[in-house]
Amino acid sequence: MKSGFVSIFGKPNAGKSTLLNALVGEKLAIVSHKSQTTRHRIKAFVTGKDYQVVFSDTPGIIDPQYKLHEKMMKAVKSSIEDADIALLLVDINDNFEECNNVFSSLRLKAPAIVVLNKLDKNPQKKQEASDFFSKQAYCKNVIAISALKKENIDDLLAAIIGCLPEGEPFYADDEMTDLPTRFFVGEMIREKIFELFEEEVPYQATVLVTEFKEKQTLIKIAADIIVQRESQKAIILGQGGKMIRQLGTEARKEIEAFLGSKVFLELFVKVRPGWRNNENWLKEYGYQP
Ligand code: GDP
Ligand code: MG
Repeated sequence: MKSGFVSIFGKPNAGKSTLLNALVGEKLAIVSHKSQTTRHRIKAFVTGKDYQVVFSDTPGIIDPQYKLHEKMMKAVKSSIEDADIALLLVDINDNFEECNNVFSSLRLKAPAIVVLNKLDKNPQKKQEASDFFSKQAYCKNVIAISALKKENIDDLLAAIIGCLPEGEPFYADDEMTDLPTRFFVGEMIREKIFELFEEEVPYQATVLVTEFKEKQTLIKIAADIIVQRESQKAIILGQGGKMIRQLGTEARKEIEAFLGSKVFLELFVKVRPGWRNNENWLKEYGYQP
């Protein structure tokens, strides 16, 4: 039996969350074309007959600008500390030197597999990228994939299992994650905020699920959308409440598919100036100290 912790690291937008979803075969981590979508460490388990991999998706590596960013980088750090294997994800269209600097700064103790992603967009760069990363000290192996098109995911999984230490599973074989359903519900609402709103709004918003009740025929969910300014509240509401209705409808559909149940979703918008820099609010909104 083999088991271990495998953490995915990389710059914002490399495709870490898309890869996590491809590896587990279920959409657990939210994805967007904007950077800094992921704010938490998201663990997901893949269990086979003789192995269990505990994958962690992590926020993209950035220089912290405020306390929320510091929490995000703490999630990266905790994932570095317990990783048995690191997956260093490179967008193959990105600058290799810059990626290399980020990876070197992690001071990894675990062996690393460099994963070249978005191969579908630029297959002709595979050799150059492979030559560049295979000579780096941290690199045990290089594998090129497309997380979006689910290409070479099986090869990657086989390489990961090949490097896993001997050990018993950490979780029951029917478990998929250690995070509560509420967390994923909040994330699905946050993903829609990233899709529907431009500029600073998604970055200055967070979601707190305040009610989750299973009734006879449906699940009743209430959530607060927290923003920093009145002007952002007005944008989220939209004229005559048009935008928040659209947000509610799109989020509800996604949540219903995820939970396999009918959902009644109520959304409220609250203004909390400076929440991203306030320890108490960050804690209340689920960002671990
Ligand atoms: P993260 O910030 O590293 O977690 O990146 P995401 O998983 O949120 O993905 C960022 C963007 O890259 C999204 O628009 C994804 O659809 C896109 N993306 C991820 N993987 C691939 C890939 O293999 N090919 C292409 N073309 N796009 C991808
Ligand atoms: Mg992500």
